[in-house]
Amino acid sequence: MSRAEIVVDVAAIRHNVRRLAQVTGTPVMVVVKADGYGHGMLPSARAARQAGASWLGVATLDEALALRDDGDAGHLLCWLTVPGDDLMPAVARGIDVTAYTVAELDALAEAAVRAGRKARVQLKIDTGLSRGGSTPADWPDLVARARAGEEAGSWVVTGVWSHFASSEVPDDPANEAQEKLFREALDLAHEAGLRPEVRHLANSAAALLRPSARFDLVRCGIAAYGLDPAPGLTPADLGLRPAMTVRADLALVKHVEAGAAVSYNGRWVAPAATTLGLVPVGYADGILRSAGNRAEVLVAGRRRPVRGSVCMDQVVVDLSGDEPSPGEPVVLFGPGTSGEPTAQDWAEAAGTISYEIVTRVGGRLTRRVI
Ligand code: PLP
Repeated sequence: MSRAEIVVDVAAIRHNVRRLAQVTGTPVMVVVKADGYGHGMLPSARAARQAGASWLGVATLDEALALRDDGDAGHLLCWLTVPGDDLMPAVARGIDVTAYTVAELDALAEAAVRAGRKARVQLKIDTGLSRGGSTPADWPDLVARARAGEEAGSWVVTGVWSHFASSEVPDDPANEAQEKLFREALDLAHEAGLRPEVRHLANSAAALLRPSARFDLVRCGIAAYGLDPAPGLTPADLGLRPAMTVRADLALVKHVEAGAAVSYNGRWVAPAATTLGLVPVGYADGILRSAGNRAEVLVAGRRRPVRGSVCMDQVVVDLSGDEPSPGEPVVLFGPGTSGEPTAQDWAEAAGTISYEIVTRVGGRLTRRVI
């Protein structure tokens, strides 16, 4: 038994992927970048495919190639190349590469020659996130170059896509503006003669909250792992199941007197005699320091508050009113169905989003896939 571990329920991922396809009525690209949002990229990808995911999405070429090495032969999109990346292996292995600029298209043309086959390219328009993607001003040139490259036999344009900035706030007028720009970009691409297989805009929140943004494909990350895609939209409301549990065994139980200052800088002082427990995980394992004095864990069926600062390897919790023994299981977060906090609870305690909670955990924790 390891001292602390991440337990990943791949049946929950399968369930969520099926549920998302059912609720949205749209084919699903499951986003498995960043090690499957901390759940393990390969087990998450396999689970997604088993549940019928027609596409997988990743950020980097290395992630995409690792999926091919694992035997994944399905549609696969990556969207974050940098100048100097060798695109040839991606082209050779049928990975869809996203192009934001004419320079990226030129690099793809060269990779296609070396690979001896047409590249598969998806064009991304920046509709308002001001991150990756062609600006609307550059879009006509990108589209014209993309069409010319199709005619020259360098590639096939398989997709056109964009990404929302505030999809988890459905009333934000930016969503409407982005969708409008996206439709205009699609029209322009169509007029230029491009006929992409897939047009896609929605992440999890938009897939669930904005039916008009579903187009041919929805790109779901957070909801596929069973976590809240937007404030107030809980997994239970959506019929989703959180897939990750982080647990540990209680390392130590001890008693301190009133006035004891707990953890670095004494950010919590015992108001009375207190029973403390030591949980052997810390910020080096991705347990956010900012959750100190705010988060809770589950020990012996009861929620226990974290006392003082989260340390590098340890967290102190308040066990007062009960006497669990060392070795007692501690659940930091999980599905929430047995009373344990959720990743969303930790996110709120740490002043962040659940994405950061699940992608950060790691360090010395082992991952067990069930
Ligand atoms: N599409 C792109 C381009 C992304 O970068 C991400 C994640 O950040 C997603 C889709 C999935 O987003 P979500 O996890 O909100 O579903």
